[in-house]
Amino acid sequence: MGKVEVKKIAVLGAGTMGHGIAQVCAAAGYEVWVRDIKQEFLDRAKAAIEKNLQKAVKKGKMTEEKANEIFGRLHFTLEMKDAIGGADLVIEAVPEVLELKKQVFAEVQQYAKKDAIFATNTSGLSITEIGNATDRPEKFLGLHFFNPVPVMALVEVIKGEKTSDETIKFGVEFVKSIGKTPVVVKKDVPGFIVNRCLVPYLALAVDDLDRGVATKEEIDATMLYNYAFPMGPIELGDFVGLDILYLGNEQWGLVPTPKVLKEKFEARELGAKTGKGFYDWSAGRPQILKELAGKYDGLRLIAPMVNIASGLIEMGVADAKEIDTAMKLGTNMPKGPCELADEIGIDAIVAKLEELQKEKGYDIFKPTELIKKMVQEGKLGKKTGEGFYSYTGASYQNIVIEKLGDGIAKLVINRPHRLNALTVETLDEIVTALRELENDDEVRVLVITGAGDRAFSAGLDLQATMQSNALVPSVAMMLAAKGQAAFTAIEKFPKPVIAAINGYAFGGGCELAMACDFRIMSKAGQIGLTELALGIIPGWGGTQRMTKILGIAKAKELIMLAKRLSADEAEAVGLVNKAVDADKFWDEVMSLAKQLAAGAPVAQRVAKYAINFGQTLPVEIGQALEAAYFGIVTSTEDVIEGFKAFFEKRKPEFKGR
Ligand code: NAD
Repeated sequence: MGKVEVKKIAVLGAGTMGHGIAQVCAAAGYEVWVRDIKQEFLDRAKAAIEKNLQKAVKKGKMTEEKANEIFGRLHFTLEMKDAIGGADLVIEAVPEVLELKKQVFAEVQQYAKKDAIFATNTSGLSITEIGNATDRPEKFLGLHFFNPVPVMALVEVIKGEKTSDETIKFGVEFVKSIGKTPVVVKKDVPGFIVNRCLVPYLALAVDDLDRGVATKEEIDATMLYNYAFPMGPIELGDFVGLDILYLGNEQWGLVPTPKVLKEKFEARELGAKTGKGFYDWSAGRPQILKELAGKYDGLRLIAPMVNIASGLIEMGVADAKEIDTAMKLGTNMPKGPCELADEIGIDAIVAKLEELQKEKGYDIFKPTELIKKMVQEGKLGKKTGEGFYSYTGASYQNIVIEKLGDGIAKLVINRPHRLNALTVETLDEIVTALRELENDDEVRVLVITGAGDRAFSAGLDLQATMQSNALVPSVAMMLAAKGQAAFTAIEKFPKPVIAAINGYAFGGGCELAMACDFRIMSKAGQIGLTELALGIIPGWGGTQRMTKILGIAKAKELIMLAKRLSADEAEAVGLVNKAVDADKFWDEVMSLAKQLAAGAPVAQRVAKYAINFGQTLPVEIGQALEAAYFGIVTSTEDVIEGFKAFFEKRKPEFKGR
């Protein structure tokens, strides 16, 4: 499988995490052996995976054959020897008990190949300590998956003290090969990135509740509505389980455990799973009223999270971008702590920390040297143009522009927590960015792609859209016009545009790709105009562009049946130029981008216009347009260079003049 030489994987433990890990590995094409200590646990895991796969089949996301094929790659056993023998990678997901994990690896060693890599899925134990108990600490790493594994995109790849760089590289490539996004945790610190930031955030919310600072509804409503978190912290504590929160907090001791948390733990009121925690879950998720938002000061929770994040940067565990990516993908926060801090202002964060330190006296509030220095140097975030990030030039919330050199620019739709779904703001930013890139002489070709490894873009952001009343006809029309204008801007953009379809491209995501000049698609992805499955139709040019690309008959079939195509199918019908294996995907995209960037800019521009816009005209007029453009290019210096290079048998150097 590409760069990662793995054929057989052993997963130890078939519980909550183990069965999910086994499923995603088998789905990526690996042979997977799952080992547990009792047949009933294996049976339960088997049934759970089967149910997941069947669900995907029912939803039309996967064919029956594909599901059977995946299931066929899964083997369940009680015998350690059968699981480990010949395995290239061992992923341990047994209960969170240090001695048990050490004992399990001691047994694994007896049967493992000499060069097999060992990984643990521990949430909180030391990677170094478990690794040192094995015969191969340099080939030992943490692969921390998130629950539910098939859904959560993030895997923290953790380096123990002795883990080799090669092993980390292996971990990163492996995680990508199963369609997940790796974030490397460069030092083995308690809680790694996500839990280290999240657990104190939850514990501090409970602490404020305990102290009567606000009610649970006020705290949750504030984070839910004013900060757009997917759940409030008290509710989230209930959701993940108050036992997990209690034990995690005790383990790392970052915040003194609040009395009420201990009481809940002892009374076994553990949240959603027992039907009662801070909330009563017997009737489902608690209703939290919007009116209560703002009755609590959310900075009391955000400021310490930023402080912890800055501590991670200071220790060299990860940089701001890696931390933000991990937090967004691991918790579904809409923005990471460093992004939030830059918006709020680093000075305000430090001031709040000092205030909290006086009030509560916990070490966690002591501002790090890093953020104190940022304040001294006036790096206060967006308002001063620099904070954790730099904000020179146009600043974007939903996209990222990267210059890759060699005349290549990349526009990344950066909403991985929403599978890069498009909002009105995202569309506006795309238009602004196109304008900027059009005038940038360094840029000869643009690559559009999605952040993370799961999605190019899942289309219109339905959640954001429902909140904005888009089902009112006039609003829906405005929304359609907005997307159409944005995608037409891509067609009018004077430089070649490549859609690097790195994952799902559904609905508006597919429409975006179709507006680009070239489409390269990873075999990890799927593509389709899926609108009719929701009872709507494509509204961003999909009916028109798909028909132009594929012809009426095929377009009707794909649109009216809301079909999702694999990359190979999309290539076969001509919807994408090329389907590429996931591990060779970026090489292919970059190779095309480089070829285009070396082309003659003026000729490329007018050829693109003649094709995009001449095609709708009567043939004679279209050809007249072509003739006029032909005239234009012959007056450029590049033509002389092109001819000269041809006769001199060398590569031309086009200047765009
Ligand atoms: P779980 O209790 O659901 O599953 C553990 C499984 O391991 C059980 O089926 C158990 O029978 C089996 N087991 C015990 N001894 C074994 C042995 N010697 N060989 C093979 N199997 C054995 O636990 P879980 O929630 O899946 O957690 C597993 C690990 O993943 C823990 O280290 C945990 O901290 C970590 N983790 C959990 C979550 C989560 O949300 N549940 C998230 C990330 C990481």
